Amino acid sequence: MTVQTPATTPLLQREGSWLAKSMKANPGDTHHLPILAEAEKRFYGAMGLEEFYEKLIKFIDNKIEPVQGEPLSLDQLRKVDTFTRDYFIGKLPEVETWIVRGFVLGKLLETRERTAPPHPKIDLDKLPAKVREAAKEYKLTLRETRAIEWAESYGAKNLSNATNDTINRVQNVLFDNVKQHLGPRSLRKALEAEFMEDEFEINRNWRRVANTETNAAYNQGYLAQIPPGEWVMGFSNPDACYHCKRLIDGKVYQVIDVAGKNMSYDDSKNPEALQWLWENTVWLGKDNFGRSGAEQKRTPTGLVDREHHEKYMPTLPLHPHEHCRWVRISPQTQYVNSKGEMRMRVMDEEAWKAWYSASIKPIEGKLGMMLKEAT
Ligand SMILES: [Zn+2]
Repeated sequence: MTVQTPATTPLLQREGSWLAKSMKANPGDTHHLPILAEAEKRFYGAMGLEEFYEKLIKFIDNKIEPVQGEPLSLDQLRKVDTFTRDYFIGKLPEVETWIVRGFVLGKLLETRERTAPPHPKIDLDKLPAKVREAAKEYKLTLRETRAIEWAESYGAKNLSNATNDTINRVQNVLFDNVKQHLGPRSLRKALEAEFMEDEFEINRNWRRVANTETNAAYNQGYLAQIPPGEWVMGFSNPDACYHCKRLIDGKVYQVIDVAGKNMSYDDSKNPEALQWLWENTVWLGKDNFGRSGAEQKRTPTGLVDREHHEKYMPTLPLHPHEHCRWVRISPQTQYVNSKGEMRMRVMDEEAWKAWYSASIKPIEGKLGMMLKEAT
């Protein structure tokens, strides 16, 4: 009997249903991993936007009492801001819960890819909710603990940005309402739309937080399972954006260990070597904060080219609100075809050879030297 080697790993079978859906999806709408989709939905639900909207209306009615046609005082605005901030900052424990669970899912699903089924069903509610519970239950290594802490601070940063955006938006809605004599009923309607409807800014922002954080944590958990020196391939939905197609989908990167260094350009002995590492490798905690997909930026004197440290580099998430993920690849036995799909070397030795010498060899040849020179 001959053993059949699958042409693609089952994990990479694409489902046509994603094609129909767009990047504007709700948490959990478009996803290749149903359990992660469920985690996104639960994260979003935990933010309690409807509950907050009702509390905010009551607060404005009872504590602010805006008088139509009269400008709001600084003190009134400050009170609304504080009320909003307190609510969302109070959600930090929820954020922690879903980041820990996203991370653990990355760890569990990576393990499943390497082990034979049947795999028991994962119950999200039984996964740890706190970093220390996860550390204990899964005996996390120092590298993993750092990775989960990174995901937490990434999450806290996005929570605080989304909170500030919410504060500004609530202020604007309130301001316009009073200025235009629209009355309390209209204020209620405007705020309800902001918090509840997909295409309004506040709702959209919080959906983005749930999607992005869950995926960021998942990819950290997955990546933390890959020993430095091994490789990952990026995997994007067919509706992924230009930058994800360019830098992630079907692209292969070696996982390196930066041992807690921040890989900042300022601390580098050799900025060119460091730039090369940013372009060709991935590590735990690599992020695109402060970077952009645009080649140029606006300055007071006109458009100028962005510096290296201002441009998107391959990392996940590449940008907010995306569903790309890493999958482990072994360049000795697998390759990526022209469609960006993973194939087994035994299926086509010539194709493997061509891919290996174009995509792996040039990186392998330089990596040791670059690592030594960069930091
Ligand atoms: Zn993208």
